[in-house]
Amino acid sequence: MSRGILSLTHEEIEAWCLEHGEQRFRADQIRRWLFENRASSFDGMLDLSKALREKLNESFTLFTGEVVTHQVASDLTEKLLLKMPGGDTVECVLMREPDRRTICISTQVGCAMGCVFCASGMLGLKRNLEREEILEQILRLDRLLDPGERLTNIVVMGIGEPLQNLPILLPVLDDVTDSKGLGLSPRRITISTVGLPAKIRELAEVGKPYNLAVSLHASTDQLRDELVPVNDKIGIEAILEATDEYFATSGRRVTFEYVLLGGLNDQPEHAHQLAGLLKSRNAHVNLIPMNRVETLEFDEPSASRTTEFVSILEARGIVATVRKRKGADIDAACGQLRLKAAANDEAATS
Ligand code: SAH
Repeated sequence: MSRGILSLTHEEIEAWCLEHGEQRFRADQIRRWLFENRASSFDGMLDLSKALREKLNESFTLFTGEVVTHQVASDLTEKLLLKMPGGDTVECVLMREPDRRTICISTQVGCAMGCVFCASGMLGLKRNLEREEILEQILRLDRLLDPGERLTNIVVMGIGEPLQNLPILLPVLDDVTDSKGLGLSPRRITISTVGLPAKIRELAEVGKPYNLAVSLHASTDQLRDELVPVNDKIGIEAILEATDEYFATSGRRVTFEYVLLGGLNDQPEHAHQLAGLLKSRNAHVNLIPMNRVETLEFDEPSASRTTEFVSILEARGIVATVRKRKGADIDAACGQLRLKAAANDEAATS
């Protein structure tokens, strides 16, 4: 089986070129075709010699995964389910807004965090995604854009806990932000985490102005322990200390995500407690109305509760927004498509 070319770093492609009697600058041309020119095959890399294109075809495949599902929602959100050679599936999404083209990518197969309202963790963690599997999501979604459209934002908010896969994720983001890659500013990339303090510090030390989003979801440790089980070994205070450091180091205002679960954490007292936690901090709260997951009993918050929650935060000086639902008609909540595919596979094999 040939290797995916995306598993190689730029330096490794340069070395491969030299080993195969080609000049080093050929690697720059290949990179341009992969990232900028959205090539769909080596044969389409027209400024390479035929001999080089043949050598590339013999040694590599461009993408290693296969698109098993491609859904387009009525709001033009597109979602891909990719099947990797070993059979694992990976989910990623393209969202269109008037002035933005945002993609949401996954970093793991499954997730170990076990948040009780989330479809991604229901089957546990299988493994970290590899470099080529993360890059393939980005480049395949980018190829769904029209020739005149450009990717503007990346949110690392798909399946998995990105901070558990930093050694793979960070070099991928380096490629994406490189002016010879996709040339995207790090300020347009958001990494969402369940809140792992040591890893947040590690990310701060990288020294790139990535946006950090922390999935807080509760205003007290008691409630957070129930909703986000890993919290019992961490605690909200330790997370806030780490995010304070992230802000101090990066200068980037931290976003706190808060999924509103009807009747559970959406009461006025919770909004007041949350405002208390964040009051002296330069923070932004992004409220996410619960996306229904078929097998889970959690409900969406009512519209009036959501509005009241926002008003309380704003009255106490906290910037708050409510996340817009995108792709509601195509299994929008991340992890649901993969879960369905897994259920189908099981039905097919049992
Ligand atoms: N592991 C990362 C990325 C998770 S997905 C993290 O914890 O942040 C991105 C966001 O979607 C997280 O805030 C997550 O808690 C939230 N989320 C997961 N399932 C959801 C659902 N069914 N409805 C609404 N938000 C959900």
